[in-house]
Amino acid sequence: MKLTATILFLGLVLSSSAQNQTSYLLTADRVFDGVALHEGWAVLVEGNKIIAAGPKEKITPPAHAVKINYANSTLLPGLIEGHSHMLLYPYNITDWDTQVLKESDSYRTARATMHAKNTLLAGFTTARDLGSEGGGYSDIGLKRAIEEGIIPGPRLIVAGRAIVATGSYGPKGYDDDMRIMMGAEEGDGNDLIRITRGQIGKGADVVKVYADYRWGNNTSPMPTFSIDELKLIVETARSCGSPVIAHATTAEGMRRAIAAGVETIEHGDDGTAEVFQLMREKSVALCPTLAAGDAVAQYKGWKKGSEPEPEKIKKKRESFKAALQSGVTILAGGDVGVFTHGDNVRELELMVNYGMPVVDVVKSATSINAKTFHLDQLGMVKEGMLADLIVVSGDPTKNISDLRKIKFVMKDGTVYKNEK
Ligand SMILES: [Zn+2]
Repeated sequence: MKLTATILFLGLVLSSSAQNQTSYLLTADRVFDGVALHEGWAVLVEGNKIIAAGPKEKITPPAHAVKINYANSTLLPGLIEGHSHMLLYPYNITDWDTQVLKESDSYRTARATMHAKNTLLAGFTTARDLGSEGGGYSDIGLKRAIEEGIIPGPRLIVAGRAIVATGSYGPKGYDDDMRIMMGAEEGDGNDLIRITRGQIGKGADVVKVYADYRWGNNTSPMPTFSIDELKLIVETARSCGSPVIAHATTAEGMRRAIAAGVETIEHGDDGTAEVFQLMREKSVALCPTLAAGDAVAQYKGWKKGSEPEPEKIKKKRESFKAALQSGVTILAGGDVGVFTHGDNVRELELMVNYGMPVVDVVKSATSINAKTFHLDQLGMVKEGMLADLIVVSGDPTKNISDLRKIKFVMKDGTVYKNEK
């Protein structure tokens, strides 16, 4: 069963890359263009570009165009995952320490190739991958193999090793005589200039810094870097146009990261109305990663559905509500890897469940993520954009879970899934 699926899959990729200049006329009952829903639209693709999108009657396809129509379906831009870790897999299968300390980069990369494929086939044609978590620069090799068409996967924006303050990150708790590899690169003070340059030099698209973490004898996270240290990183990265993004869960960690000039804040669990307001003013976007907290709480024993929500989840609901009310830009990113790659829609479902209007969630996962990640040619169904398109059964602007009913996946004009 599995073998047949793989062969079919390879067949699709080969045949479509052989005919890369193929034209497609795609029609579905509805087209969500990244901003609004339209009926009676068609989308014309030639090579790897969308060359027309609009009312059917206004589009004349060339005679050789392959016509694909999906009834009772919605066509959308390829979805964009805002926060993944291709080199991790769920902690209830193998805990994080073991993955980081005992698994070789080659083993982890082999797994990551499957994670990349599953992400793409789930309709996520782009992913921002935020840290290799002890996997060195394997994410950069993975990205290259996908770009060269060696393996199927989403377009990747990668962070490489990421930066943490000395003594703040894991794995922790080992005897002092042991040399323990960290889940990210440690650095402090002026050395952060060299580390930032080094990571960018290795091919990181974005620099990820941990503005806070559980460190010292604290049971809860505390800020790590000073504002000046964070500013050094941002200033250094800015010289070559690279964005800096920050992991931050505490209000003070978020404040420092915002003041230093990061572009996005990951998690933001203890963000207050005042912090979110500040983010809005400085155009810093929030990637809430609701699904990570939800998954970790379950790994710790919470029986979702039959037991009341743990305090941490209740607080996250409140801070997410404050974020919504503040008008801060909200990204769609779940911290996939903590939970299963290919189950990315889980984050979008939780965003709706936590109170975000469903259309806004679909916008976040398409045009908003694209704009925030500087992907000028993605996230919209529009003339001139790259041909990353998906079709799902139903209408995900009404029922977000319809995004799970993937019928068709095209990336860069190549068809990876076409299921009637
Ligand atoms: Zn993460």
